Amino acid sequence: MSHEIRTPMNAILGFSEILLSRVKDPKIIKPLKTISSSGNSLLRLINDILDLSKIEAGKFDIQYSQVNLKTVFQDITNIFQHKLQERRLDFILDIQKDIPESLLMDGTRLRQVLTNLVGNSVKFTDEGYIKLAVNYKYSNSNKGLLNLKIRVEDSGIGIPVKDQKTIFEAFTQVAGQKNEQFGGTGLGLSITKRLIEAMNGTINLESEVGKGSTFNIELKNVEILSPGAVTKEAADFIQDSIKFKPAKIVIADDIEYNRDLIKLFFDNSDFEIFEAENGADAVEQVRKHKPDILLLDLKMPVMNGYEAAKIIRADENLKKIKIVVLTASAMKEDEPAIRKIGDSYLKKPVTKSSIIQEFMKYLPYETVGLVESKKITDEKLVAQINTDVLPLIDELIKKQSIRKLEDLAQICLKLSTSFKNDILTDFSKQVSAALECYNLDELEKLVSNFKEMI
Ligand code: ADP
Repeated sequence: MSHEIRTPMNAILGFSEILLSRVKDPKIIKPLKTISSSGNSLLRLINDILDLSKIEAGKFDIQYSQVNLKTVFQDITNIFQHKLQERRLDFILDIQKDIPESLLMDGTRLRQVLTNLVGNSVKFTDEGYIKLAVNYKYSNSNKGLLNLKIRVEDSGIGIPVKDQKTIFEAFTQVAGQKNEQFGGTGLGLSITKRLIEAMNGTINLESEVGKGSTFNIELKNVEILSPGAVTKEAADFIQDSIKFKPAKIVIADDIEYNRDLIKLFFDNSDFEIFEAENGADAVEQVRKHKPDILLLDLKMPVMNGYEAAKIIRADENLKKIKIVVLTASAMKEDEPAIRKIGDSYLKKPVTKSSIIQEFMKYLPYETVGLVESKKITDEKLVAQINTDVLPLIDELIKKQSIRKLEDLAQICLKLSTSFKNDILTDFSKQVSAALECYNLDELEKLVSNFKEMI
């Protein structure tokens, strides 16, 4: 549905913009501006509704990755800086000292939530201040986790007690507010609440009319990532350029999916991989294959990882085998015990680059030159273009279809991001731009030149 609604909106907005830049007659400019601003409000409403229905249908995922809270807060500050200055509001950013920099969160959704809340504060505050604060406490049970409290506070018009519950429902605004004055759809807070709940959190409101409002968010058990976690670029580099010599690996994990994942990581390697479903099985596989490395999960049925490691360590023939422990536990208290049995350990969920970094300590490898690694990536990209893009191009040469053209722009954009390819980025931008103003001649040209360009 999103596609069907957004396509005509693109035309409405695109053409009013084009006309606005060409028309000189003030009598026409005014209604055109109204079309354009109403179109923009409508698009915002549509986006909100689509977002909400996606959340309600359970059709969206929280995507966890490394997030630096300070960066997120600074970004939010930057977004609103201009508006705040314009309205002469003070902005206070209060981040608790020494907050761990690297957390496992959904950065995009967190930004969306904060943009909504700070945006509202700016909208409903005429004078005074807006404060964005965050503090944290380590979780009692586990020092690898923390509880975050984020507060968005303003000295604005406030929200009457009777409305304080209902404003989290869709399409609800405080009665008596003039929509022309404040704008908005009444969807922001319901989306915000649902997003926070999806992230395992809660939101509540304290407010007094005429004094201001404070929205409190609490996110429990946010995982702290180790400070040594490598940047995305470094991780990409490690993944692309390290090539291990042939080696034997045993993976011991009771969950098949976990084993599959690691096998998949090393799909293209010269590793010989053997699997074990529990500790006893692991000991057996290790005796049989004498691997270079045993990847050992701790919590397993029949025999756990600790016992398996003890048996292996006690065996003269197996002593030299390196054990890399995989643990879901982030408890500091467990560390000494884990260190005793393993040569090193990795916290779950493991990434490909973190496993590679561990393996680099124990296995011989060579660094494939960047040129060669680029060649390998280029080959992969060409293969993807052959299967995903060229059939679409052939179809489009025969018959233009707006929907297929949009698919084309999407696929090219996806490929260009995963392969970091500028030519494809440009191409997909050109297709999108031409689609936006229905420039059919240009689209035809782009499609027919694609093969040559590639
Ligand atoms: P809208 O798009 O209308 O802002 P929201 O769901 O974000 O939708 O907010 C719903 C209503 O809650 C707003 O219309 C306003 O009446 C009230 N509200 C939200 N945030 C504040 C705030 N910081 N101060 C005063 N009123 C607020």
